[in-house]
Amino acid sequence: MSSEPPRRVLVLGLDGADFDVIDPLIAAGRLPHLAAWRRAGVAKPLASTVPPMSFPAWSTFLTGLGPGGHGLFDFSERIAGAYRLRFTNATHRRGATLLGRASRAGRRVLALGIPATFPPEPLDGLGVSGFDAPVSTGTDPRSASDPALYAAIAARVGPWKRPDLDEGAHESDFHERAVATLCARIESKTRFALEALSQLERTGRRPDLGVIVFAESDTVAHHYWRDHDPASPRHDPTASAVRRSAVAAVYERLDAACGALREAFGEDALCVVLSDHGSGGASHRVVHLNRRLADCGLLQRSASGGRLEAAARAARGLALRALPPAVAEALFRRARGAAARLESAARFAGFDWARTPAFCEEANTQPGVWINLRGREAQGCVAPDDYERVRGAVIEALCDWKLPGGAPVVARARRREQVYAGPCVARAPDVVVELALDAGYGLCLVPTPWSEPAADPIRALAGEALAGGRGRGTNGTHRPDGIWLATGPGAEQLDLAAAPALEDVAPTLLRWLGVAWEGDLDGVSLLRAEYGPEDEARVAARLRALGYLD
Ligand SMILES: [Zn+2]
Repeated sequence: MSSEPPRRVLVLGLDGADFDVIDPLIAAGRLPHLAAWRRAGVAKPLASTVPPMSFPAWSTFLTGLGPGGHGLFDFSERIAGAYRLRFTNATHRRGATLLGRASRAGRRVLALGIPATFPPEPLDGLGVSGFDAPVSTGTDPRSASDPALYAAIAARVGPWKRPDLDEGAHESDFHERAVATLCARIESKTRFALEALSQLERTGRRPDLGVIVFAESDTVAHHYWRDHDPASPRHDPTASAVRRSAVAAVYERLDAACGALREAFGEDALCVVLSDHGSGGASHRVVHLNRRLADCGLLQRSASGGRLEAAARAARGLALRALPPAVAEALFRRARGAAARLESAARFAGFDWARTPAFCEEANTQPGVWINLRGREAQGCVAPDDYERVRGAVIEALCDWKLPGGAPVVARARRREQVYAGPCVARAPDVVVELALDAGYGLCLVPTPWSEPAADPIRALAGEALAGGRGRGTNGTHRPDGIWLATGPGAEQLDLAAAPALEDVAPTLLRWLGVAWEGDLDGVSLLRAEYGPEDEARVAARLRALGYLD
């Protein structure tokens, strides 16, 4: 018996990548590597999590569990019972990661830039965290599983990620400059990854599992979708050529990076290009969910509410805006509590809790409604017997909510146990909300401006505000379908007849690497069972036809 060479796999993660962007660029001949792989391999939309956001979605990629199983629903989460938030990180997640499982089974791992992997877990190989907080902008040896190896790589080619782009700071020429920064960042990350591969190989540690994630496809879609898409209701006809070609320019750089990384990793490996969710354009309308709850008698403000909330938002804005990115990063690393308190004060100031049965965090990253349940919340006013009735009233208030013209604001509002399963369901809001598309464009959920007493819960933006920014959403938003594109050895064994989902990725890659796992995963392997009963029957039939079997 000849022993097969060990199986290897390279995952190229393009955060937020969408076939709606890729396919026209392939047709125009601008993505030669992805085009060739798509022709030779298998491609399908890949269903994301609810919500389709980076932290829960990459956590599902890593664990093979849905958010109800791994427990990371957003960058931040409510502290149980308190009207306060904390920022989440990898230590708040349940379930072993694909990286750790492969590493413990003796497979070497190179994992760069996966969101929600800070603090780094021990790996045989090298792991460098993605971003662990909304304001973490660079990486250094503390982000790495092997700080000495990280430092050796960075000494030759620079860090994995530099603190070079402050997305919070919208100077007037931000959109003219930022695309060049994104392209440069893709190139410096590629250099880092190539150097990491070369140093690992030179020391006899060629990785079996590589996962390299680029966030730039997501960033460019959030800031430039309206320039990329002339039909966008946020489109600016005066946009410069630089802005109009930003999305395409970033995807072209990513295509080149994918080509270089696959070549260096080795074409003996299965190669998967995937995204954690898709991307699309944003509507020119934004919605205020707490204002809707207030209009329906489900939320009450205290008399001093507007002033309190305005003061809290001003304090948070000052604290974040006045800080250089490196200091903001340090704040989030060392004083997460302080940053989270500022955020909590801004979101939950000025509510009359005794008369508020339901409230929303108003975070576009996790739309949902909490019931102010007595015995669970610090100032809960809804009796446990009344919980289901109030949840029903919230769902009705949201499903009856209409855009001008009559289309729904909310696609689905469901009880959390209808959406999630697993031990972490109680970390999710009582009602999970998915906003509808407004004529094909995503609605952004933004905080209610209580200082404007008569404001409508649906607000149409105009002029400068269409670009996005605080209180205006972003001009590109997430979509529930990401991408899955596989090529190379093993791709032909993938069964994509059923719609694949992000939770299927970990079991598929572990099965391919020959790593067994314990415990139930929510996903299933997409590999056709090797020598399963059907294959045996097929082989027997073929042998019989050839006359070898009676
Ligand atoms: Zn993402």
